[in-house]
Amino acid sequence: MERTCPHCKSQNGRAHGRYRRLSDGARVPRFRCLDCKRTFSEASRDVCFAQKKRHVNHPLWMLLVSGVSLRRVSKILRISRTTSARKLLFLGRVAKRELRESLQYQPKLECVEFDDMETFEHSKCKPLSISLAVESGTRRILGFEVSQMPANGPLAKIAKQRYGPRPDQRIRGRKRLLRLVRKLSKRNVSEVAWLAKVSLSAEALTRSSRSITPPRCFEPT
Ligand SMILES: [Zn+2]
Repeated sequence: MERTCPHCKSQNGRAHGRYRRLSDGARVPRFRCLDCKRTFSEASRDVCFAQKKRHVNHPLWMLLVSGVSLRRVSKILRISRTTSARKLLFLGRVAKRELRESLQYQPKLECVEFDDMETFEHSKCKPLSISLAVESGTRRILGFEVSQMPANGPLAKIAKQRYGPRPDQRIRGRKRLLRLVRKLSKRNVSEVAWLAKVSLSAEALTRSSRSITPPRCFEPT
């Protein structure tokens, strides 16, 4: 049982009764720190801390990964759209953390494939680029980056009139993704050689005008 005080990091936590959590009726043990005299519980460190609708986290996750829309999910689970939107962000943070943790214990990478797709936020005048890195063969997701990009084609002029100039964050996003992959890859390459290759790959990806570029093997040498 974790008795480290979250306020002063002291190990001198002593049992201090229990309380019944309103959101799910669970009885949660409380502790009191002998050093700073403040109280805490196991729930203080929980990822769902202070959530009033923690019981919908799991069904919401299952529905969202099954492709159900936020609007529909809110109807099915009888929660507001604001709640489901907040939960989506929360579940995203949890999933990202779990991915990061799981990658630490995986064997080093031999071969990586990159893919890129385009979508939009709010309006087609605000396109987004999603770069994804997966391990070749196993299709294990290694990381992804979402970057803003300016609209192109017939929408470029309208987008600029309506929303002003839009930054192109694709190269920066892809460099970030490639740096992450570098940490996970088997070969140890020098920083200079790596960055030279990264800039080339990022430019090559950016030059491609197709919405979905075919996956390609990237091996650091
Ligand atoms: Zn304390």
